Amino acid sequence: MSCEKRIILNAEGLSLSRLVLGAWRLLSGPEKPDATSVARLINDAIDLGMTSFDHADIYGDYGVEEVFGAGLKHWGGKREAIELITKCDIMLKSDARPDNRIKHYDTSAAHIKASVDRSLKNLHTDYIDVLLIHRPDPLMDADETARGLEGVVNAGKVRAVGVSNFSPSQFDLLASRLPFPLVTNQIEVSVVNTHSLFDGSLDHAQRLRYAPMIWSPLSGGRLFTGDGPQEKRVREALKAVADETGGADISAIAIAWLLRHPVRPIPVLGSLKRERLAAMAAALALELDRQQWFAILKASTGQDVP
Ligand code: NAP
Repeated sequence: MSCEKRIILNAEGLSLSRLVLGAWRLLSGPEKPDATSVARLINDAIDLGMTSFDHADIYGDYGVEEVFGAGLKHWGGKREAIELITKCDIMLKSDARPDNRIKHYDTSAAHIKASVDRSLKNLHTDYIDVLLIHRPDPLMDADETARGLEGVVNAGKVRAVGVSNFSPSQFDLLASRLPFPLVTNQIEVSVVNTHSLFDGSLDHAQRLRYAPMIWSPLSGGRLFTGDGPQEKRVREALKAVADETGGADISAIAIAWLLRHPVRPIPVLGSLKRERLAAMAAALALELDRQQWFAILKASTGQDVP
């Protein structure tokens, strides 16, 4: 193994698996999965070492948590064998939320409590391992948001809290009002989306020693389907490295490229297909050398580093 098997998030020893399964696309297929197939997915993920599952209240137009929760109930394994991450604050215009007249954010203490209570019910669980504020809210009152987060932690409903898509200063603001650390910032990074390497986000994580969770680690599939010059260059560079490392799938090289970063990124994988998840899990046994890593960066940006 080239990297740690699990990432410890806080002093209490809460940890996530090195690769997390993202549930966003659970209701994207033509058929709604039943409890048996969700239970199978949970078992498949665990077999591949992925014990952590990423959710949000809004996934599947507010429907994913409930479908996953039915599968979790059917699964029948020990709750402590897995970790559940979920998020709140995005308010979608949806038939499921008739009071939302417009898409907006809500980081009020009352909304945090209400959203957590709904997630607990939908997921059929007594506690959430990690609750994230999904998007930075321009109306966030840091004192009040912190009070809301403390409330759900003190009530035993949530073990740890973090954020998603926050800039370093937004992270610092909220952290400054909390009596416990924010354990992660879930942000987008991939071989075709490298902004966080240069905008201070990963520097901030390394400075404060928290492991960022990485969403859309394969750019939501654009890496495979995109026919622009960037995607073509990157696929070629991944293939060249795959050949050098003994023929791994290019998805594994793309994940290994993320894992190579010293900040200890935690990729959140979006495919729910066992064979694709298995191909990406092979990344854990790969370690790209510096020049392989920079060759992929060059393919992404289209130029040598200065
Ligand atoms: P991703 O892993 O970048 O993309 C997954 C997509 O790529 C799937 O549609 C998959 O198709 C497709 N794909 C095509 N070829 C593939 C291959 N060879 N191997 C693997 N996948 C392939 O991740 P994502 O779904 O965009 O996002 C991952 C997770 O991040 C989500 O589930 C969610 O939990 C989280 N997320 C968080 C935020 C946030 O704001 N915090 C935003 C977006 C997502 P198939 O499904 O057909 O395999």
